[in-house]
Amino acid sequence: MDQANLVIVGGGVVGCAIARALSASWSDVFLLEALPKLGMGASSRNSGVIHSGIYYPPGSLKARHCVRGNQLTHEFCAAHGVPHRNTGKIVVASSPSESSTLHALMKNGCANGVEGLRLINRGEIRKREPHVEGYEAIEVPSTSIVSSEDLVKAYARIAADRGANIVTHARVERLESTGDGVRVTSSAGEIDARCLVNSAGLFADEVAGMLGSPMAQHRIYPVRGEYCEAVRGKQHLIRGLVYPLPHADGLSLGMHLTKTIAGSMLIGPTAHYVRDKNDYERDRQPVEDFAAGAKTLLPEIEASDLVLAYSGIRAKLVPPADPAGKHPAHAGIADFIIQRDPDFPRVVQLMGIESPGLTSAPSIAEQVRDLVAEVLS
Ligand SMILES: Cc1cc2nc3c(=O)[nH]c(=O)nc-3n(C[C@H](O)[C@H](O)[C@H](O)COP(=O)(O)OP(=O)(O)OC[C@H]3O[C@@H](n4cnc5c(N)ncnc54)[C@H](O)[C@@H]3O)c2cc1C
Repeated sequence: MDQANLVIVGGGVVGCAIARALSASWSDVFLLEALPKLGMGASSRNSGVIHSGIYYPPGSLKARHCVRGNQLTHEFCAAHGVPHRNTGKIVVASSPSESSTLHALMKNGCANGVEGLRLINRGEIRKREPHVEGYEAIEVPSTSIVSSEDLVKAYARIAADRGANIVTHARVERLESTGDGVRVTSSAGEIDARCLVNSAGLFADEVAGMLGSPMAQHRIYPVRGEYCEAVRGKQHLIRGLVYPLPHADGLSLGMHLTKTIAGSMLIGPTAHYVRDKNDYERDRQPVEDFAAGAKTLLPEIEASDLVLAYSGIRAKLVPPADPAGKHPAHAGIADFIIQRDPDFPRVVQLMGIESPGLTSAPSIAEQVRDLVAEVLS
């Protein structure tokens, strides 16, 4: 049986960033990923935006990790040739009635330490984005786009170069506490780990449940986000990133317009609770819904300009307000949970790592490195 200092469950962007950080200090680091490739979950099914940190409540883990993660992700991408582009973004108030909400968002961003925020008027919006309609906007210079797949691969490559064992086709099926560690049984074999990190994304509650941890009570609710792509002839309609005001209930940042690294234009993501954590495609929304949703920001867009693209699933800690309803209302915002398990102190649990998890990954990895050091030192 293999012996490990550390086993990380889950090879998404967060697990890979943790493997990179931990393999700098520790030998015998294993990362176990259930699927055939790394990053096939939320980590490659997102908007690919390096967020600034304007949205999250001051003092929250989301605010702290997003702001630091923004800086670390830019530095990492530049140092390791990960495709990214500093487009900046605008968050647009469509009418005077949205102005006070926009100003409150600006104040929140400043409180979180996001630099360079500026309010711009309709004329300045048009100068930046000639096809976008808006009354007023926040200009956010530190937002960028990144190839999330390349980012995952780069974190994993560096971890492997430092000696970490990255194992795919390795679904963790059983966890047993052994007193001085955790016995991990996966489809690839057994490992005795001195420390375990649960970074299983949508399935983190189920992995916590394998141990009998009380943290499995933090149930994860899948919320699907779907995208549409503009046909080639319409991709020029935006130059960078254009966001509406976020949902007031915290469900999502709103259906936005994203210029991707490849130069295409995405509209989305939508936000709907689904029952099955693997349900990416059933009952997809029609392109007409996307066109209707985007028209306020981009009046020229028509349903005939759009084709359905991929979807991703958010790992939400907040249940739908009415689980019986077809389109239940969301009720509240939850922070990331990152802590040593109260009943199994050799286990670090990460739960509810939804957006801005892609941006936050290297900063989350720093926090996890410190928690793992408490266990292993
Ligand atoms: C629609 C959408 C848009 C988003 N846009 C952005 C954005 O623009 N910017 C941003 O910062 N964030 C964004 N996010 C959030 C970001 O994508 C996630 O926070 C991030 O990818 C989470 O990474 P993760 O490693 O925790 O999870 P995942 O990528 O889901 O990885 C978890 C991994 O664990 C594996 N796993 C699960 N169970 C087991 C098991 N038992 N054994 C072994 N392996 C297991 C899974 O196969 C999976 O690969 C978005 C998310 C969505 C859904």
